Amino acid sequence: MKKITILIFTSFLIGLVSCNQMDKKSKSLNIIPKPVKVVQEKGFFTITGKTRIAKPMHGKDGSTAAYLQSVFKSAGVPVPELCEPFEEKNVIRFEYAADEELGWEGYTLEVTRSKIEIKANEPEGLFYGVQTLLQLLPPEVFESQKTERKEWKVPCCKIWDRPRFEWRGMHLDVSRHFFPVEFIKRYIDLIAMHKMNVFHWHLTDDNGWRIEIKKYPLLTEIAGWHVDRENMPWRKVTPPGPGEKATYGGFYSQEEVREIIKYAEERYINIIPEIEMPGHTSEVFAAYPELSCTGKKLYVQPGSYWPNADILCAGKEETFGFIEDVLEEVIALFPSLYIHIGGDEADKTRWLECTLCQQRIRKEKLKDENELQSYFIRRVENFLNSKGKKLIGWDEILEGGLAPDATVMSWRGFKGGIEAAEQGHKVIMCPTSHCYFDYYQANPDFEPEAIGGFTSLKKVYSFEPVPEGLSEENAKFILGAQGNVWTEYIKTPSHAEYMSVPRMTALAEVVWSPADQRDWTDFRKRLNIHFKRFDALKVNYSKGSWKVDIQPVLENGIYKVTLTSEQPDIPIHYTADGTDPSANSPVYKKPLAFSNSVVIKAGLFESGNLMEAFTVKEIVFHNAIGKTGTLKDPPSKNYFASGAASLTDGLKGSENFKDGYWIGFEGTDMDLEIDLNEDLPISSVEASFYQQAGSWIFMPEKVVFQIFDNNHILVAESEIKTTTPLGKNDAIIEKFSAGFENLKARYIRVIAVNIKTCPEWHVGKGSKAWVFADEVIVNGKH
Ligand SMILES: [Zn+2]
Repeated sequence: MKKITILIFTSFLIGLVSCNQMDKKSKSLNIIPKPVKVVQEKGFFTITGKTRIAKPMHGKDGSTAAYLQSVFKSAGVPVPELCEPFEEKNVIRFEYAADEELGWEGYTLEVTRSKIEIKANEPEGLFYGVQTLLQLLPPEVFESQKTERKEWKVPCCKIWDRPRFEWRGMHLDVSRHFFPVEFIKRYIDLIAMHKMNVFHWHLTDDNGWRIEIKKYPLLTEIAGWHVDRENMPWRKVTPPGPGEKATYGGFYSQEEVREIIKYAEERYINIIPEIEMPGHTSEVFAAYPELSCTGKKLYVQPGSYWPNADILCAGKEETFGFIEDVLEEVIALFPSLYIHIGGDEADKTRWLECTLCQQRIRKEKLKDENELQSYFIRRVENFLNSKGKKLIGWDEILEGGLAPDATVMSWRGFKGGIEAAEQGHKVIMCPTSHCYFDYYQANPDFEPEAIGGFTSLKKVYSFEPVPEGLSEENAKFILGAQGNVWTEYIKTPSHAEYMSVPRMTALAEVVWSPADQRDWTDFRKRLNIHFKRFDALKVNYSKGSWKVDIQPVLENGIYKVTLTSEQPDIPIHYTADGTDPSANSPVYKKPLAFSNSVVIKAGLFESGNLMEAFTVKEIVFHNAIGKTGTLKDPPSKNYFASGAASLTDGLKGSENFKDGYWIGFEGTDMDLEIDLNEDLPISSVEASFYQQAGSWIFMPEKVVFQIFDNNHILVAESEIKTTTPLGKNDAIIEKFSAGFENLKARYIRVIAVNIKTCPEWHVGKGSKAWVFADEVIVNGKH
């Protein structure tokens, strides 16, 4: 039997290959994430009252058939009854087929006029085949009530599909705000619909402990609740008043946890529980103060708790006893191989002052508090390993040395991920720049308040989980990626949906589809159909950014400017004279060329109405525009914009250093040399820099301007010191300008000298300081 299956399968593949011509023309049938191969054919399969579902021939698991039946039943699709496996006509068939190429999550789906056939090696594959089948049906199939629709047609096609990454995750923080069981299930459904397979459940943090631990009942009786400050801004909440009751919070009983795990298993989603340690544990000290260094009883934080000073004492043996007891119960509940232990943002102040922690450092011959953290994590890892489990932690667990078998979640950019992979550790990528879905996704003026940052849908879609510069050998340690939803500013299920989708949708394609098949415009079109599925599911999704993005482009050496948006079919109207555009202003069609400085204002107009505030950008036309310089040290990946090209693109940054026009250098100087390609008159060179001490960004101490002739001989030099006080925390932009007389030259070097480390009085003292630059302007009349 098996042999026959393989034979049939091979011919199916050959069929696909010969259809390659068609493949190019064929649509992706609006499936998200985009399958590896889709061939659309003529005709339809129609589901009627007489359609049957055939049981798998040699069933490891028949639950997917039941799952499909239940989805059909809710939406009012005629529910096919089960029939024997050998039925061939008017049937939806599931079959286990041996095909190595498909892996354990791949599937094939073939729709002809007479049958629908899903084949896979494992139940996971069959489940993903069903998800694709659902997307081939009208969006009403996602309704939870019987719809009016009478006809249920599936276009004939052949699909061959498998995921790119094995870790396709979504995270949810239920500590900052508590979310009910019903929402957790809905969130799991959304994850499943996107063929993602990990739910990272952030169960404990400073604002509340959310999982029942039988041995420590006070964790949920006391540490799960805080005083209600829901009406106050997160960063400005007031502490509990005398005798004030803790009324906000909640927790999941072990029974509820089991129920959720079962629900997730039926959707092939692995739940990774996270129990934070040694930091982000202040809520524990409301219940068990003896576990901290000071032993002081704290209250559960009703809002922002920063810095994260009260952490578990690493000197006391009771701490490890507590952790092992808690983990023992967690392990008994969760079948997951991985247990997440947090490990992030642990402030070491208390450890420095604690006699027991210092004793531990001496006894274990550790160098410092970073090594004490490493000792802590290693000890927990030993325990987890002894129970057959593996440890995951945020990238801070690299500090002081990584535990031998730990998996790292790289959130502070790409660096931690690269470092861990180079040491041979497994890595999950979730850099804030692309994967933090608590950041703004559109113009903050029109959005519910978010924690900050800016991660647009387009930015998520552009994410490449394998960091640049990682060798092919080490790239295999990148298991995949996940989106993180922290809930400081997210109080309700509906808001959590708004922040999660469609960014989750974009990420799903990043982690599932082949990298070379990603196409933003095509995705954006398919997304409009996907939105109808969300409508049917009554999901409160975000319609994304309605802002116009203004970017430079060089076309045959000529400097031009492009105007784009995330709404492919909505016209962009613009002006270049500083006036407000209207629906009568020119519609943007192709890149715009300029030969002098202008102010561009642009906006999206739907049916004549402006949809969001204008984007306004001044283009400073100067001698170096479009002439890319060379940087001695590259900018940080997180604030890279277009690298050196951003410094001569005519576009200046705004007061928001995350606007994509500023580039940032962490701990290094900005040392740029521009080649004008010929001797040109130079009357002045200017460059602007940015300071916001609270974000560890400081003005350069000084900026050195050097001018070289055609033979690279220095002909002029000027040094300008900053006039901005170091302590100034408000966003400030300072222009450094050097004037020159009667000068013609070819090369210009600009060195902005970084203060290198944050000053003594600063919270980040000793850590690398940033320099941010937007544009180097070279003036001079031809
Ligand atoms: Zn201590």
